[in-house]
Amino acid sequence: MFELPPLLLALAFILVGLAAWFLGRRNGTARTVRLPRDYYVGLDHLINDRFDHAAEIFARMADAEGDAAEIQFALGSLFRRRGEVDRAIAIHSRLRDQGGAGLRDKAAFALALDYQSAGLMDRAERVLEELAASREFRHTALDHLVGIYETQGDWAKALKVFHELPAPLQTERARVAAHYLCELAEQALIQGDSERAGTLLRKARTHEAELPRADILRARIAEKSGDSGGALLLYLHALETSPGLALEVIPAVLALARQIPNPDMLNELGRRLRHNGRVTPRQLAWLLATAVPPEQVALVPGVAAELGAGAGSAAAASSLGALLSRIGDAGGRYQCDECGLNSVGWYWRCPKCHAWDSMNPAVFKWAERADGAARSS
Ligand SMILES: [Zn+2]
Repeated sequence: MFELPPLLLALAFILVGLAAWFLGRRNGTARTVRLPRDYYVGLDHLINDRFDHAAEIFARMADAEGDAAEIQFALGSLFRRRGEVDRAIAIHSRLRDQGGAGLRDKAAFALALDYQSAGLMDRAERVLEELAASREFRHTALDHLVGIYETQGDWAKALKVFHELPAPLQTERARVAAHYLCELAEQALIQGDSERAGTLLRKARTHEAELPRADILRARIAEKSGDSGGALLLYLHALETSPGLALEVIPAVLALARQIPNPDMLNELGRRLRHNGRVTPRQLAWLLATAVPPEQVALVPGVAAELGAGAGSAAAASSLGALLSRIGDAGGRYQCDECGLNSVGWYWRCPKCHAWDSMNPAVFKWAERADGAARSS
């Protein structure tokens, strides 16, 4: 959490003061409009980091003036950012209970944020549910509720609130709703209910037709029912649309390929990975080298060269394969495109920045850098 620099806040207070003074002067009452002495005393406390005293004085002013609520909101969020959530809660609760109708919702929303940052999710939930009935804060409240349910992994509730969002937002986030349904399908699979999982996945595909996650789950269902051929096709299709899944999918494909005679499987994998045209030859070579089991790494240079990787990067792939895996296992096989988080395991939703579909194999980036270095040398 960052701290709002006290000087910045002080500057805001000075500006508010000046604006009040100018307005007063324009109305010809310059001599009678004066900022109360308390204002300067409060400012002095703020500049010198005496937040308790400042809060006390501004609270008193707010009661006396009746229109200094903005100062209270600023103080409240300052306390929240400093991690003094109890104080923020006290300020916002008072504003909600004593403020006029216009202030009540704004204060309630600030209070929900306080509860959220204090980890009091049930209280945040309750306040946001109430706010969802308001006109001004409805969408923001629903949006925050979805976020809370996502964090809690309560996918059924997240999906329910998602359907209350405005239609354009639902269209924009259709893929996220599809992920909720995939999460529910995974839970059904864990409970052994393949039929329900299948229904949920069909629903997911009504939100997003091209969904590699649904392909993978359907492949698992097919595998379970003994349909190896069907499973293989679904896995390969997932790779085509999302080459970043290679490290997750290739081991499953190779295991299935041992059951179905197909000597050309590595070539087939390479072709699928290049299908969407976004994977460079070096990325392909390095990805294959990292994803295939050690006994097959020796085959990678031949496959990569056949698929258009330069001889250099293809040969490098073989020698790098083991090294890449080892580095990957230590520092993280995956990296988030949005926030740069490294992780050993795969996530559909980044645990740090909460973006969906943002993880990619770290070798993608390394290969990109090597391509850049090769071009500039
Ligand atoms: Zn992230």
